Amino acid sequence: MDSITGSTQPPLFDRLDEQKPDALLQLIALAEADTRPEKIDVGVGVYRDAAGGTPILRAVKEAERRLWEAQETKAYLGSQGDPRFTALIRPIVFGESLAAEGRIVGLQTPGGCGALRLGADLIAKANPKARIHVGQPTWPNHGPLIECAGVEMVPYPYYDCDARRILFDQMATALNAAEAGDLVLLHGCCHNPTGADLSAGEWREVADIVARRGLIPYVDLAYQGLGNGLEADAAGTRLVVEAAEQALVAQSCDKNFGVYRERVGNLFVKARSSATADKVFANLMQLARTMWSMPPDHGAAICRLVLDTPELRADWNAELKEMCARIRTLRARLAAYDERLAYIDGQNGMFSMLPLTPDQVLALRKEKGIYMAGSGRFNVVGLSDDNVDRFAAAVVETMDG
Ligand code: PMP
Repeated sequence: MDSITGSTQPPLFDRLDEQKPDALLQLIALAEADTRPEKIDVGVGVYRDAAGGTPILRAVKEAERRLWEAQETKAYLGSQGDPRFTALIRPIVFGESLAAEGRIVGLQTPGGCGALRLGADLIAKANPKARIHVGQPTWPNHGPLIECAGVEMVPYPYYDCDARRILFDQMATALNAAEAGDLVLLHGCCHNPTGADLSAGEWREVADIVARRGLIPYVDLAYQGLGNGLEADAAGTRLVVEAAEQALVAQSCDKNFGVYRERVGNLFVKARSSATADKVFANLMQLARTMWSMPPDHGAAICRLVLDTPELRADWNAELKEMCARIRTLRARLAAYDERLAYIDGQNGMFSMLPLTPDQVLALRKEKGIYMAGSGRFNVVGLSDDNVDRFAAAVVETMDG
């Protein structure tokens, strides 16, 4: 028989553009391949304990065991995922009073990425000409997630890496010049990549600008509990959501429950009335149906069980506090090493940026086996008690040239 390969087909996949490999994933592979025992990997963005591992939280492990024993079906859930899970996360994000607000709807998403993408799609669907103001620098995946939904991004200055400070005046000027109805992307806490969060007073000023200028905040809350505790880390989010008639919050449980690969998050949207909120929810359900139909259940079921079971919830809270404290201790040790690293203690979460050139970052990799992103972003908690001083020494030596 002749070959059935169709030679009449015009090329389809040949038309695709080449894609650059993801720089961070490449870095992980390079670090893994390095056989030097003293290598330090501060590239990858996951929590590490003192032994250098990313263990499963005690409460998560126990909830998984109970789930395995009690779960009787894997039949489909709806596009909203597990509504009890979303209802339990709601007051953690918004506090009890704002959570009771009927104009806020929410649904489960595949992680923070799923929430960010779903929110961007909702915005584009509601207003194909929508613009979103995005601070610079920001997490490298914000751009692709927002732009592929068709929402125009407008940069605003956020942080000066060399001066190691937030450019608040420039940020405020940019937001004051934004048009009514424009969206503003804000990191709720533990800014990625800089670790530099707005102060309480700056959050109040942003909330004031948002209210006065008719801007719509879109808060990315991916690290709640890893900066200064669950309540403190949500304070800015609550301020801006309260100040605005309309707002979006993309929330993730992947870091604060340590369930990264399970993909657990929620998107919350505040609308101008509860009737509009219902319409928003119906549109979110429809958009979710076209992307993932329904979010994966397992991770959200674990988080639901932990939050619904007092002893597991208490243990989760305790372990989250331990993780947070470990990050703070490492930050304090880096800051104490040299005054040029002092700013690191005032920052929050897993990441900070070092004012290093790409060449200096490369030299650290080649000469010392220290792996960090080309931007100088490093994962504070990728360090261990044993290597934190060696890391600080190598960085300071490189800064001195
Ligand atoms: N936002 C920020 C700022 C992040 O750093 C991340 C994860 N690195 C996310 C959102 C997405 O988190 P998830 O893994 O839950 O999709």
